[in-house]
Amino acid sequence: MRAVEIVGGGLAGLGLGIALRARGVPVTILEAGDYPRHRVCGEFITSLDPATRQTLQLDTVLRRALPARGVTWCEDGKALITHRLEEPALCVSRHLLDQEMASTFLRLGGELRTGVRGDCDDNPGRVLACGRRPCSSSRWVGVKQHFHDLELRNDLEVHFGRRGYIGLTRIDKETVNVCGLLPRGSCDLHAPFAEMAGQAGFGDLSDRLMRAEPVADSFCAVAGLDYGDTVTDDTFRIGDRSALIPPFTGHGMTIALQSATTALDPLLAWARGESEWEAAKASAHRRQSRRFGWRVRTARALHPILLDARARRFARALHRRSLLPVGLLYRVMH
Ligand SMILES: Cc1cc2nc3c(=O)[nH]c(=O)nc-3n(C[C@H](O)[C@H](O)[C@H](O)COP(=O)(O)OP(=O)(O)OC[C@H]3O[C@@H](n4cnc5c(N)ncnc54)[C@H](O)[C@@H]3O)c2cc1C
Repeated sequence: MRAVEIVGGGLAGLGLGIALRARGVPVTILEAGDYPRHRVCGEFITSLDPATRQTLQLDTVLRRALPARGVTWCEDGKALITHRLEEPALCVSRHLLDQEMASTFLRLGGELRTGVRGDCDDNPGRVLACGRRPCSSSRWVGVKQHFHDLELRNDLEVHFGRRGYIGLTRIDKETVNVCGLLPRGSCDLHAPFAEMAGQAGFGDLSDRLMRAEPVADSFCAVAGLDYGDTVTDDTFRIGDRSALIPPFTGHGMTIALQSATTALDPLLAWARGESEWEAAKASAHRRQSRRFGWRVRTARALHPILLDARARRFARALHRRSLLPVGLLYRVMH
């Protein structure tokens, strides 16, 4: 059996590693960071299908996730639109999820090398699962922190500020995850989260966060997010490395995990010596673009509309007359 090297131990890399190890393929994952660790993420998973859960052995950890159905979209602290998801989302801390997946991979006999940066050139057997390609001209930063003593008005609250948005969701009995996509330069990333939210135009939310208890060491931030980028180099890539979907969909984690199962068969064929590397790569990319291309394109088209205050007021007016096709939009993006 040929060996596979995965660069990046996030959800896509760990997922692929687990699925390959369960089928007897020798796998090494190179991860620049370590576990457990907090990640910038809304920690809200939508539309994760049972087959992916089973192939990636996620059922045990996801039993600890909280189901979420009700969503309220807010502006200036007031509810704009409230609706229910057609199927419950799952809310789970990345601190827990990534750690549990790393443990599963190790239990299956995988080699996990942490604190190591892998090479990102194409090489037979090398899969890039190293997340988004940083873009220096990006106008977005992502921030997140956990809070205690924070009441929510629904399972998921999404607040719009001047140009960005912040989502709040409960991930366990005590803890609420607060995660935002903010325009670069709109706030001081060294300030406490509540202050940052105020600077970025989320006055009402900032007041609520001032009264809550931030969880020490859970703050993290990322920059260089480019929601127009689709990589087309000659590497074998999965997850965010292939294409980023805007976070309002709550679908990036699902795509990362599903991209691991989508790439599995072509990689298995290569590992067993039944196909060449170029053919395995081409097949994996074709499958991923068939499965995710439409969702990513639709979400990217909707993203600027969502950030436009006039468009949101129009959507609210439609919603009041029961004319906003929330269910259809949800189905199209998932
Ligand atoms: C603000 C924000 C909010 C979000 N909210 C949600 C949400 O609510 N729901 C949802 O489903 N998705 C959400 N997402 C998206 C989701 O977090 C990502 O889609 C998902 O984490 C992608 O997984 P991945 O494995 O492809 O990449 P990552 O999770 O980024 O993992 C990549 C890994 O590769 C490692 N790495 C990078 N370079 C190297 C190297 N050269 N060598 C070794 N290791 C390397 C990194 O350390 C990292 O661990 C959000 C994203 C942002 C920015």
